Amino acid sequence: MKKETQANSMDTNEENINNYQFAQDDPSNLMNTIFSNITEGIIIFDSKGKIVDVNPSICITLNRTKEDLIGQTLESLVPKEKQFKIEKQWEILSYKKHVKGHLPIINGESIIDFDFTTSTLVDHQLYVSILRDVTEKLLLEKKVKKNAELYEGLFLEALDAIVFWDNETRVVNANEAACKLFECSLDELINKKLNDFVYKKNAPYYSFIKTLKDTGSVRDETLFLMPNGQKKYVEFTSKLYAVDGYHMSIFRNVSERYQMEQDLRESESRFRSIFEGALEGFVLWNDHFEIVDINPAGEKMINVPKAHIVGRSLKNILSDCEYPQTELHEQIRLLETDGKSSGTINVTLNSGENKHFEFSTKYNVISNLSLTVFKDITEKLELEERLHKSDTLNVIGELAAGIAHEIRNPMTALKGFIQLLEDSVTDKNAMYFDVITTELNRIDSIINEFLILAKPQAIKFVEQDIRVILTETVNLLNAQAMLHNIVFKLDYSDDIPPLFCEPNQLKKVFINIIKNAIEVMDKGGTITVTATTTSDSRIHISIRDEGFGIPEEKIKKLGQPFYTTKDRGTGLGLMVTYRIIEEHKGLIEVESEVGVGTVFHIYLPESN
Ligand code: ADP
Ligand code: MG
Repeated sequence: MKKETQANSMDTNEENINNYQFAQDDPSNLMNTIFSNITEGIIIFDSKGKIVDVNPSICITLNRTKEDLIGQTLESLVPKEKQFKIEKQWEILSYKKHVKGHLPIINGESIIDFDFTTSTLVDHQLYVSILRDVTEKLLLEKKVKKNAELYEGLFLEALDAIVFWDNETRVVNANEAACKLFECSLDELINKKLNDFVYKKNAPYYSFIKTLKDTGSVRDETLFLMPNGQKKYVEFTSKLYAVDGYHMSIFRNVSERYQMEQDLRESESRFRSIFEGALEGFVLWNDHFEIVDINPAGEKMINVPKAHIVGRSLKNILSDCEYPQTELHEQIRLLETDGKSSGTINVTLNSGENKHFEFSTKYNVISNLSLTVFKDITEKLELEERLHKSDTLNVIGELAAGIAHEIRNPMTALKGFIQLLEDSVTDKNAMYFDVITTELNRIDSIINEFLILAKPQAIKFVEQDIRVILTETVNLLNAQAMLHNIVFKLDYSDDIPPLFCEPNQLKKVFINIIKNAIEVMDKGGTITVTATTTSDSRIHISIRDEGFGIPEEKIKKLGQPFYTTKDRGTGLGLMVTYRIIEEHKGLIEVESEVGVGTVFHIYLPESN
């Protein structure tokens, strides 16, 4: 139908154009000035849609010349998919004088959006379209819409509570999250004063109010009291005149975090006080086995200042202590499977002291830190060993009392009969007779030693000068010593008080020790015997030999029943010795160096 209209008006086309040009040539024509200067684009076209004139503005907008545009059809300016708009325009123009709408026009590679108004110039059978470039306006509109959506989204949906308030801190608007935080409905919240929610208006409160006034914004946290009586620790950011002259605050409930922090601080301080105050050593180390902290008790136990140990690798320290690798691997395996492990370690401190530590470790007690607790058990071990020794001594003692008497009686008979047989010994069996006699003597000496272990029959404590006992013992053994090319050197201090003791028993002690000394000095030498007093009122007796010494690990075996390294030894001498010294409430210490010699130190309290 539109096409027909076009076809009908075709005949008059030429004439119309001429008429129109005539009008334009008139310099006084106001329309002409407008046409040339108006910022809106103007396209004049005929009933076939062919462009007959354009104004400079549209040329500039489309970046085309007037000549280029004149003669083109309207359709050619519009992208294919939008051409229906032109058809729609024709349709409306067929019954209306004006059409308004929106039209995209091709501009090289891009499209420019225009709002247009097309009017029919009836007299000329022409049409004029006035076009306004609305690309930017559209973009702006889109942006505004987007911002509005964004704002809606942010404000309404935000998880954080957002509140707008006026100069009196009265709430003018709030989102859902805010209602939730303040534990009331929006209606209840509106017109309430934000200030009234602050739990305590103390120094920090005045400080953040001041910051807000001075700088226009503030970020802080404080305790709020909600209308339902609930207290919440709230973090907030406030900004003055944020939107439409209103002030804005964004709140976040951090009560849980605050509580957690509080709990953490408390448990941290509890841990600290245990850590600092514990009597046991505490070492904290990280997952690289690096020591992070050690408590004062720990420092003291290993006698190394904290500064020297923090940062060091636990593995290095253990390997320095010759802690067995296999043991270390086992410990690590246990930590990884059970989360804990324990054991003991032998450590030689910088001072040369040898210490035993018992330790237990908990893996990852706090954020990648593991805790090892250790304690010095050196003394405990020594005590246990002594206890063990004296326990065995007691048992042996009781046994000895029984057995020794039982054996002694048949022994006396045997010895008597052997003596009777002595006269009838022939050369042929003299050798056997000698063996029998020496072996019988040996049995006899073992029994004698056993008997000393038995509960003392007639032990009588008297006051005696230890130097006298020592000298008497030395005299007793002098002959034997000389046989082995050994001389005695005695060195007593003058100020030794008399000792309350059992002299015969002590003699037995010194005999045992000196006999052992003689037995280890095949090449002869000197046995030095000293007696002094110590600063803590004890009498110190030392017996030093130049024998082959005792290896470190064997020292603790001394005094164990039947421990002997000699072919014909009984391993009872030192046991008896320890027993007697113990009865005197004294102490024996052995100091030895292999190849150099051994010193037996005996400490006896001056008064029992
Ligand atoms: P026995 O002398 O019968 O062997 P003891 O109880 O007297 O038994 O001594 C036990 C062991 O202690 C000895 O066999 C020896 O190995 C060791 N011993 C004791 N005294 C010394 C010493 N002065 N030097 C080296 N070793 C010693
Ligand atoms: Mg001996």
